[in-house]
Amino acid sequence: MDNQNNKGSGPNNNRQGWGVILVTTLLVTFVVMGLYSLMQGSNPEEISYDKFLELVDDNKVDEVTLGSTRIYITLKKDAQNEDNSSAQGTGMNNIINQIEQQAQEGAGGEREPDYYTGVVNDDTLAQRLEDAGVTFGAEVPDTAGSLIFEVVVTVILPIVLLVILFNILMKRMTKGGGMMGIGKSNAKMYMEKETGVTFQDVAGEDEAKESLQEVVDFLHNPGKYSGIGAKLPKGALLVGPPGTGKTLLAKAVAGEAKVPFFSLSGSAFVEMYVGVGASRVRDLFKQAQQQAPCIVFIDEIDAIGKTRDTALGGNDEREQTLNQLLAEMDGFDTNKGLLILAATNRPEILDPALLRPGRFDRRIIVDKPDLKGRIDILKVHAKDVRMDDSVDLEAIALATSGAVGSDLANMINEAAINAVKHGRQVVSQKDLFEAVEVVLVGKEKKDRIMSKEERRIVSYHEVGHALVTALQKNTEPVQKITIVPRTMGALGYVMQTPEEEKFLNTKKELEAMIVVALGGRAAEEIVFDTVTTGAANDIEQATKIARAMITQYGMSERFGLMGLESIQNRYLDGRPVLNCGDATAGEIDEEVMRMLKAAYEEAKRLLAANREALDKIAAFLIEKETITGKEFMKIFREVKGIPEPDPENEEEAPKEERISMKPAAAVPENGQEEELEG
Ligand code: ADP
Ligand code: ZN
Repeated sequence: MDNQNNKGSGPNNNRQGWGVILVTTLLVTFVVMGLYSLMQGSNPEEISYDKFLELVDDNKVDEVTLGSTRIYITLKKDAQNEDNSSAQGTGMNNIINQIEQQAQEGAGGEREPDYYTGVVNDDTLAQRLEDAGVTFGAEVPDTAGSLIFEVVVTVILPIVLLVILFNILMKRMTKGGGMMGIGKSNAKMYMEKETGVTFQDVAGEDEAKESLQEVVDFLHNPGKYSGIGAKLPKGALLVGPPGTGKTLLAKAVAGEAKVPFFSLSGSAFVEMYVGVGASRVRDLFKQAQQQAPCIVFIDEIDAIGKTRDTALGGNDEREQTLNQLLAEMDGFDTNKGLLILAATNRPEILDPALLRPGRFDRRIIVDKPDLKGRIDILKVHAKDVRMDDSVDLEAIALATSGAVGSDLANMINEAAINAVKHGRQVVSQKDLFEAVEVVLVGKEKKDRIMSKEERRIVSYHEVGHALVTALQKNTEPVQKITIVPRTMGALGYVMQTPEEEKFLNTKKELEAMIVVALGGRAAEEIVFDTVTTGAANDIEQATKIARAMITQYGMSERFGLMGLESIQNRYLDGRPVLNCGDATAGEIDEEVMRMLKAAYEEAKRLLAANREALDKIAAFLIEKETITGKEFMKIFREVKGIPEPDPENEEEAPKEERISMKPAAAVPENGQEEELEG
């Protein structure tokens, strides 16, 4: 792949150019000024005419220059030293003179005269000088030259400098990208002649691929469509959460159609220089049209395409850029085979003008992959990695509900790295599971030493979650419990195993999830009669579920089916927005509180009734740090007097290999922990 920065000389280069000019000018000025003052520093001293003659007769003069008004006298070197010391006296001057002399000699340059005297009408002077062996001649008039020099240094140069500085400052403050091409072109635009990516490299997004297939055909063969008079799409919007493969899809379209791929991020358009964004858009389209047929991909289009609300005065720069983009999209001729793809995870904030017919009128959803999608994505990325027979990608896919393509790609890579670290040539299933944990909850932090008491508390907390899970029918079986801290903040966590991927949760399941989330805190209270900060995330999680049950799922008796919240940006954090009155909001809070309280009491009741199991399993966990679901269930059954399940009956026991990392179930223990949502 030749991934080249398309155009080197952009505004950056221009800005750099100005910087270089500025610095050079400043340097030159200082050097010239310094030299000039040096020359000025050695002004000859005036002496009387008879003193001059005396010096000539004493054979002290080396050279004489006869000017029109002055006679300049240069002494012989030895005489000069002697004479200077007597004439000028001070030691400091002497040193300076010597340095100057040496500098002049070293440079081989002409020596400065030491004295000057007035011109006297003296016919014998020439003879006298000749007799004394003095070199003499008339002055070469260079005063005009030095005058010009002086004017340049003291007047013109500073003015030029000021003008340049002023110009640069003005550029920064005002609009316009005219002069010297500031704002022309595109710093972060990339062009690939061939992406080398095909639809086969994108897995699990079959609907999206299907929609794009048509587009590929059109790029292959624009004439076929235009001949019949069909209007071709100008742009398509790829909508979905980060990491689902939107960029990859765009590249695949270019790869399949064998056309060049231009890509640029929306945020690169919006800069501090007003007008730069618009000029970049213009430039981008100009270049793309020259290369057509081709694909132009604008990532994060929401950065420029936000609704132009003028409530706060808006952002001039962004608006200009957006207007330019709209104008360009309206302007180009589709028959050339130019297609604009844009990606966003916040389609709801886009300016409606962008979505009008003839612009980004196609919307292609690139959502999080389902179980089958995840299996396919894992397969695509496992292709180039050597794996042993133990590897079961299906199990990994099952354990990673909620993970997107980039997560899965990352996991395969982590697993390969892990294998190499252990000196193995092939990746095993164990490597993969470890990678799943690393990607979802971070690396193990073995160096983090917890005090004995902390380990006890964390153990009871985790076993609290696990025990409540096992005691409730509507939750997924426990797979693993650990109190080894993780880099992403968890001090310990419980993994649960889904038997299959769920798209729907029943009310009972959600209620059980809340009880499980509060099980950690309940164990702390029962055992230590005190509570810690470790439950912050559990509480947040529980509250979120309870709230959603009331406001979104119509699962509370009090409000019934009333839709009280709506999700604003579905492809990002899915933050809900209340759409009810203040009084109702207050009632919702009360209802949430009631539900959480009831769930907490239930958790405490369950744990208190099973105190023996709680103590035994916690003691085992403190000793081992990590225990499997099997070990957990063994103690649990022993205490409860439940017989071991029939090995035939698969349903009963969680399969060892099927470690689940369904993110919502990996209950993190730390407040700063990022939310893992399932
Ligand atoms: P987005 O643009 O949606 O944020 P990217 O296309 O940049 O996501 O995906 C990042 C990386 O994740 C890709 O380069 C690829 O390795 C992997 N990836 C993401 N989605 C998929 C997918 N559907 N199939 C295969 N690989 C994927
Ligand atoms: Zn917890």
